[in-house]
Amino acid sequence: MNRSSTLKNTAASAYRNAEGFVPQRAAYIETAAITANVRALREVAKGAKLLAVLKADGYGHGIVPAARAAVEGGADYLGTAVLEEAFAVRAAGITAPLFSWLSAPGAPYGRAITEDIELAAYSLGQLREIAEAGQLVGVVPRIHLKIDTGMWRGGATLEDWPGLCAAARELEAEGKVRVLGIWSHLACADEPGHASVPAQLEVFRQAIATARALGLDPVLCHIANSAATLAGPEAHFDMVRPGLAVYGVNPLAEGDRGNAPALRPAMSLGAAVVQTKRAPAGAGVSYGHTESTERETTLAVVPLGYADGVFRSASSAGPVLIGKRTYRVLGRVCMDQFVLDVGDDDVAAGDAVLLFGPGDSGEPHVEAWAAAAGTIPYEVLTRIGSRVPRIYL
Ligand SMILES: *Cc1c(COP(=O)(O)O)cnc(C)c1O
Repeated sequence: MNRSSTLKNTAASAYRNAEGFVPQRAAYIETAAITANVRALREVAKGAKLLAVLKADGYGHGIVPAARAAVEGGADYLGTAVLEEAFAVRAAGITAPLFSWLSAPGAPYGRAITEDIELAAYSLGQLREIAEAGQLVGVVPRIHLKIDTGMWRGGATLEDWPGLCAAARELEAEGKVRVLGIWSHLACADEPGHASVPAQLEVFRQAIATARALGLDPVLCHIANSAATLAGPEAHFDMVRPGLAVYGVNPLAEGDRGNAPALRPAMSLGAAVVQTKRAPAGAGVSYGHTESTERETTLAVVPLGYADGVFRSASSAGPVLIGKRTYRVLGRVCMDQFVLDVGDDDVAAGDAVLLFGPGDSGEPHVEAWAAAAGTIPYEVLTRIGSRVPRIYL
């Protein structure tokens, strides 16, 4: 077989570095897909603003390129979980409004406030700590108060909410904070029809009303992740906070997607075959000999393993594309590599292997890898190891 035809139409073949090499193993990132997805999500969100979630290194895509692509697509806000991520965005010279929502006492709030990073307050103690940090650096911190509407993760309880709002109002009157937003998070947005969704939304509306009654004037109320953004307008409020969908993956089950826009997966994970060899029937393959060849066949070694984010739980299950055919991992995924049974097909060292991507060449979607590994696409994307180069197409 003509080897270049094996490579044709794969993300791997689309890229040659300056020396003309196809990388041995890489995550190919199509930043234009992130930009297009943000544009499409803005249409879905209509009047609401859009915050593009960039946590976990932009869901594994690279936080800075993802931030730039999202801003190009019209993201009004950027969001990170921890402050280190927000600092990385600012260090790259990105000046878009930026909200960061997960920090414990002693966090570098002064630096965050100086760098124009908006902060979440879950409790009275945290609110006071942020206000004091603002006094020290001479800048009024911009705060989004978090109400726990029923996920029982972070945020003020219903019981603590009026006290938190009243204290925030007092600090506002003293010029020590500005409460810009009120926000929460949904537990079951990816299960449309789940009774907890309208219940949480009702608690959210009441919490906003309480805050207003206590004199606060939040201009950004937000609760919708990707699933709640795509499921309908009920949860959009003033701003939506999609993450996974920005990277082109819809968290809703196919039957629940309605007329959601087509999103384009931005990442392809690929490698080049290291070696092929013929093996007789009955050859035990990989660690533990959990599988054996059924007949004489060709085995191919792929240089990606669990240290690269190829889940060990996808042993004997994960699908990969070579040329036009899809194979499954044979036996255990190792730290750096796994083995495929390619039968009598014409596969050779150097051939391009795609684990997942947008599907242009018939490669699996990341959802298929997640299912094979017994997990969710979020975990597959965010676990791609630092050893895998990200290549921006
Ligand atoms: C991760 C996260 C999101 C985005 O969730 P997706 O399901 O990826 O859209 C939104 N808001 C908060 C607070 C998050 O932690």
